[in-house]
Amino acid sequence: RESWASDSSDSVTSSGSDSDSHLYKVMLLGEHGVGKTSLARIFGGVEDCPDVEEAGNTYNRSIIVDGEEASLIVFDIWEQDDGQWLQNHCMKMGDAYIIVYSVTDKVSFEKASELRIQLRRARQTEDIPIILVGNKSDLVRSREVSVDEGRACAVVFDCKFIETSAALHHNVKDLFEGIVRQIRLRKDSKED
Ligand code: GDP
Repeated sequence: RESWASDSSDSVTSSGSDSDSHLYKVMLLGEHGVGKTSLARIFGGVEDCPDVEEAGNTYNRSIIVDGEEASLIVFDIWEQDDGQWLQNHCMKMGDAYIIVYSVTDKVSFEKASELRIQLRRARQTEDIPIILVGNKSDLVRSREVSVDEGRACAVVFDCKFIETSAALHHNVKDLFEGIVRQIRLRKDSKED
């Protein structure tokens, strides 16, 4: 199991002087059942320490990436409401996006492409970090989407790609660190 550089209890103390103290809003998108909540809960440290408070469907935590602290607030609200309003709002408010599909579910993979298109439309002029995630990589025998298909899709959509297994905690840490790095890359290029 992977361990995080920073404990979730640090999350409230991380503001002010550090250079990356901004709280980044990360939105989880994807079909029902692909593993969004599982990934968010691992990020939030809910599984490691059962007494961590879950504030609804958002998970606030600071992590150390490349020696620097970053605070993320992860929103697992995509499916909270049937109405279109919340989903439109999600498309507008994120600083970064994690689009999740299940490697065992081709339909969820196709849906991920649709979400990417929707997101591009909603944020036309912006270069926002997006990571395409193929979750449930542990379910080898029921795989319907190959690693190559996932990777190719990410190339077409000009975003990053990673396969994860929330069940095995595999690559989950890399996913959230990757989001921080993507955010920083864009921030740095703006400052130059
Ligand atoms: P959500 O609807 O996208 O939030 O998906 P959930 O996180 O609720 O997960 C849906 C179901 O898939 C649950 O039964 C999870 O335990 C299971 N699940 C999530 N991630 C994985 C994974 O990586 N591997 C396996 N085998 N099951 C997973």
